[in-house]
Amino acid sequence: MFIGHYGPAAAVAGKQIKLWHGFVAVQVLDILWAPFVLADIEQIRIVENFTQSNHFDLYHMPYTHSLPAALIWSTLGGLAFIAMKPSAGRRGGIIIGLLIFSHWLLDFIMHKPDLLLWYGGPKVGLGLWDNRPVTMIMEIGFLLAGMLIYLRATTANGKWGRIAPAMLVLTLVGAQITANFGPPPPSVNDAAQTALIAFGVAALIAFWCDQTRQSRQ
Ligand SMILES: [Zn+2]
Repeated sequence: MFIGHYGPAAAVAGKQIKLWHGFVAVQVLDILWAPFVLADIEQIRIVENFTQSNHFDLYHMPYTHSLPAALIWSTLGGLAFIAMKPSAGRRGGIIIGLLIFSHWLLDFIMHKPDLLLWYGGPKVGLGLWDNRPVTMIMEIGFLLAGMLIYLRATTANGKWGRIAPAMLVLTLVGAQITANFGPPPPSVNDAAQTALIAFGVAALIAFWCDQTRQSRQ
């Protein structure tokens, strides 16, 4: 999954958990995955139309996308958040941990069986990526549902408070359509770098939203 990951982040954003915190959290596994691929610690290969929705055979991702790894990164991420933002408290740490883990659950729905259940165990994935219309509905639907909850939980400080979330949604939907309908990337490294840039841009626009809107509570 790609932009659909941001739905849960937007749904819980408000006072303690900023939108940009959630936007980083839900992509932690992929933010780690990209440098792991660049360093050849994890491996993918580009196979044109490997699924209806993308061109990636994600055949070796034990350190970021296995179930045990996802649980460990979620725990560490939650603890790191408490350490960096003590005011968010234990509750904030748990929410961030759950957001990090939500990535694995949504990947499980979309991916072909490439997610290790345990080391030496089977690989799982329901494979919805093989249906492009359903993929688009899931990705955009999750994002929009989360953003609607965010818009209701917060209020705009002037016109930029309305423009920023609209820009965020338009940018993400544009990125999703490019990813699902575009040609295969020229190389694996190119794909990993593009992913990192996309996560960075999304987090930056989310940060902008945080500056232009405030919690209703
Ligand atoms: Zn992932």
